[in-house]
Amino acid sequence: MPDDKIDPDCLFCKIASGVIPADIVHESGTTVAFRDLAPQAPTHVLVIPRSHYPNAAELAQGEPDTMVALIDSAREVAASEGLEDGYRMVFNTGAVAHQTVFHAHLHVLGGRPMGWPPG
Ligand code: AMP
Repeated sequence: MPDDKIDPDCLFCKIASGVIPADIVHESGTTVAFRDLAPQAPTHVLVIPRSHYPNAAELAQGEPDTMVALIDSAREVAASEGLEDGYRMVFNTGAVAHQTVFHAHLHVLGGRPMGWPPG
């Protein structure tokens, strides 16, 4: 991974590179998926790009193929977690939308009915 695609101070960059451990459930050349530390559903997995982008929109602009890979990884996670009845994909974008880690990440939630609208 080129240095300009990594933020050495970023928690999720450290998880993607293996410096900080995580419960990894899926990997591809451009993505890593791991279980959320504070799960909000029976299945709660985060799918991240290996490259550092602060949010999903900037990832889509900078590496559109990786954005597609994120969704495809979510599909594989949902299949391996037995979520054939459905699951929710969420990109919190900005602090007001409850983004707390500023490295793009896709929440994959499932295993219980999901309410609407979200809080
Ligand atoms: P967001 O609020 O959308 O930025 O989501 C960040 C998510 O990262 C939260 O759901 C946290 O529980 C999760 N999280 C924070 N640190 C870790 C970690 N070390 N391993 C796994 N999940 C984490």
